[in-house]
Amino acid sequence: MSQKVKMPERDPKIRKKDFKQVNTGYTRDEMLKEAKRCLQCKNPSCSRGCPVEVNIPGFIKYLAGDNPSQAVKVLKQKNNLPAVCGRVCPQENQCERLCILGKKGESICIGNLERYATDIAFENNDSIAVAEKSGVKVAVVGSGPAGLTCGGDLLKMGYDVTVYESLHSAGGVLRYGIPEFRLPKEVLDKEINNLKKLGMKIILNTLIGRTRTVKELFNESYKAIFISVGAGLPVFPGIEGENLNHVYCSNEFLVRVNLMRSFDFPNYDTPVYRGKNVVVIGGGNTAMDSARTALRLGAESVKLIYRRTEKEMPAREEERLHARKEGIEFIVLTNPIKFIGDEKKFVKAVECIKMELGGYDDSGRRHPQEIKESNYAIETDMVILALGLHPNPVLTLLTEGLNTDRHGYIIIDDNYMTSVPGVFAGGDIVGGDTVIEAMGMGKKAASSIACYLNQK
Ligand SMILES: Cc1cc2nc3c(=O)[nH]c(=O)nc-3n(C[C@H](O)[C@H](O)[C@H](O)COP(=O)(O)OP(=O)(O)OC[C@H]3O[C@@H](n4cnc5c(N)ncnc54)[C@H](O)[C@@H]3O)c2cc1C
Ligand code: SF4
Repeated sequence: MSQKVKMPERDPKIRKKDFKQVNTGYTRDEMLKEAKRCLQCKNPSCSRGCPVEVNIPGFIKYLAGDNPSQAVKVLKQKNNLPAVCGRVCPQENQCERLCILGKKGESICIGNLERYATDIAFENNDSIAVAEKSGVKVAVVGSGPAGLTCGGDLLKMGYDVTVYESLHSAGGVLRYGIPEFRLPKEVLDKEINNLKKLGMKIILNTLIGRTRTVKELFNESYKAIFISVGAGLPVFPGIEGENLNHVYCSNEFLVRVNLMRSFDFPNYDTPVYRGKNVVVIGGGNTAMDSARTALRLGAESVKLIYRRTEKEMPAREEERLHARKEGIEFIVLTNPIKFIGDEKKFVKAVECIKMELGGYDDSGRRHPQEIKESNYAIETDMVILALGLHPNPVLTLLTEGLNTDRHGYIIIDDNYMTSVPGVFAGGDIVGGDTVIEAMGMGKKAASSIACYLNQK
């Protein structure tokens, strides 16, 4: 059975010093070799693993015939952000996991092929069929992958879509969370510009709930509203010393570096501390991104502390492997219990305790337990906390009648409608976890919004 063609990547010793892309993309020959491995299954299991229902064998067939322009047309029929998905989707758990070739050998590298197609033949919008404009206005709150997808699909259906974004730039986590070396801003800009060319209006610096309320949006003649405000509230461990200087939460750290370009200080006037011996706490994509960003800012050592083993880490496998190759040290089965400061209240060490895995918990993973009297200290001058994110309550608290669960996630029905008629929601704010999940929800919500508006 043929082996997959691996995506070439830059030398870790060089790439860890800059913010340029890690993977360099397939050459034409590599793409052809990989695309020709696809069996073009009549009943393709891969497509069933794609939350936005891309016709996967369809676009691969065009690539195998060396026709990237047609491949992009097929991708864009279903996917409003294909260049993003080709880079950051967890394909290994979605389409590629279900590829028939994976049963006995190596599945097709669907994400790498998607990236090739969009890198080569991205620009045009003429592949997208757009219905006649109806003049009916829909507002989308939040410009992350859920909002852009929902808005994009509604545009294609002929609705007049305006996206409201609280920050000064659009894209959500794709812009302010995921670093340049995984997803260049230029690629994201191209995707957003394509949506703008289709007619999407994006109004920045507008915090819905405060600057304008949901009720005011309805008064401005929007007939439906889609809320996709993500989950941007950082989780803190609640232990001694977490307020010390140079203890950052990953959100603040990554937003400063990515969105406010503090890596280019003083050309951009957002300072960020550049730690020498950095400790990152967590095991997800956010932790990997924080650790690798700290390394690129000049850290001599970066240690990543995680309370379970590497097997249980939620981060994508590719990101874990890249982080390791770049020299990030993984300290597993370890938990911080206290941050120790110096006389000026700057962090100087993390007191940790060793852990062991016990029985299985609600998440289906083995529960970590402390090993008594196993405490030890790790010296550091910077800590980044990447322990997960919860919903930000600004919009939900300020919107009358909008029901949330006890963690603050918006409750929706089977049609993605919230407790407020005409208000729909999707993405991380209803409990999503990945870009493609957010996009899948945006897509389904767009169909439900269209049904709702047709029935009115
Ligand atoms: C560092 C990091 C790395 C990640 N890496 C990956 C990865 O590799 N692969 C993957 O699949 N997933 C990854 N994820 C998860 C993924 O990015 C999210 O699941 C996804 O972005 C959620 O999309 P969303 O549209 O729901 O929200 P978001 O992307 O969070 O976008 C929400 C937007 O709404 C705006 N907003 C918030 N409140 C308001 C308001 N009241 N009014 C107006 N605008 C508002 C926000 O500013 C933001 O721009 C990562 C997450 C992080 C934090
Ligand atoms: S399941 Fe795998 S081999 Fe079959 S069509 Fe999909 S990508 Fe190709």
